[in-house]
Amino acid sequence: MSNVDRDPILLTPGPLTTSLATKAAMLRDWGSWDASFNTVTARVRERLTAIIDAHDTHVCVPLQGSGTFSIEGAVNTLVPRDGHMLVLINGAYGKRLAKLTEMMGRRLSTFETADDVPTTAADVARALDADASITHVGLIHCETSTGILNPLPEIADLVAGRGRSLIVDAMSSFGAIPIDAKKIPFDALIAASGKCIEGPPGMGFVFVRKTVLEQCAGRSTSLALDLYDQWTYMERTTQWRYTPPTHVVVAVDAALEQYVAAGGQPARYRRYAANCETLIAGMTAMGFKVFLDARIQAPIIVTFHAPTDPKYAFKPFYDEVRNRGFILYPGKLTQLETFRVGCIGAIGPEEIRHAVNAVRDSLRALGITMSSKPLAAATAKAA
Ligand SMILES: *Cc1c(COP(=O)(O)O)cnc(C)c1O
Repeated sequence: MSNVDRDPILLTPGPLTTSLATKAAMLRDWGSWDASFNTVTARVRERLTAIIDAHDTHVCVPLQGSGTFSIEGAVNTLVPRDGHMLVLINGAYGKRLAKLTEMMGRRLSTFETADDVPTTAADVARALDADASITHVGLIHCETSTGILNPLPEIADLVAGRGRSLIVDAMSSFGAIPIDAKKIPFDALIAASGKCIEGPPGMGFVFVRKTVLEQCAGRSTSLALDLYDQWTYMERTTQWRYTPPTHVVVAVDAALEQYVAAGGQPARYRRYAANCETLIAGMTAMGFKVFLDARIQAPIIVTFHAPTDPKYAFKPFYDEVRNRGFILYPGKLTQLETFRVGCIGAIGPEEIRHAVNAVRDSLRALGITMSSKPLAAATAKAA
């Protein structure tokens, strides 16, 4: 029953399924001092910057490690040691941003809404007006723990209007959801290789406003995560400071070449939106319910309520679906039993249709019935 000779499709928001051309790019070894490798690094920085049209305003600083390393680098490099950061929270990644800010010894305030409620510019205005000591605001663009999209353009305008500095975790939105640095004011925006640009995991990158980064020498309390040092070293030598993730860099370069050839951000958004629509249509037809309201759902990852049938448990369900060739993601909500399905990666609506079929077959194999029947009966009785 299981697909022994091919990898399962990853319906997880990083690592995700990459194209064959991207995987094939990793079959060579590169010297970190070699000019040919440093040409690739320069091209990757250039192509990433072009995605958000930030050439005139921001520099792209790549950093080894998973996405969180780059977030920690951004906060630690930009926020002065006596700075005060307001973190906007509606999920696990907002909580992580708050935690790392505090661990680095910066003063922290938080503003939290429920997992299914976006932060609004009015919320941020109230918080900033109530505390003049806040210097920085941290926002998660798409909160991957549910798939909720926070209103980045409105919040960015508000923060800039109040003369504060905005740090955006755009990890799961960058490359798919439009972000234009010419229209949206931010001082730092962070993303990583293994999300919507469909590379392998292993490096993050931060777009930092050049005039801001120039002021950041000596602020970082960490050697490895100092983005100012990483940037100035790279500008001076064309090389990475410390061992680069060579295979990841060349794979990201290949992924970006395919990204541009396929039509860039608008095309990526359309494919993910088609994946998301196909997924939600197929799952709701089966009786699943989506956790978020459609108006605030980003086409990146979808949270579904788990079946209410007492025979359901995530692990056996996951195993059944996995045996059919698809990897699901557990839920990340503490109050509710949910699971998540990613819409991103080198897949299209056809793969999503197969995934929905795999879910249906798995439910059948486990003898799980969906709650839509009792619900329909209750409605009939009421009428
Ligand atoms: C993936 C992701 C991160 C980074 O997570 P890592 O596990 O460190 O790669 C941060 N924020 C958001 C919103 C993400 O989706």
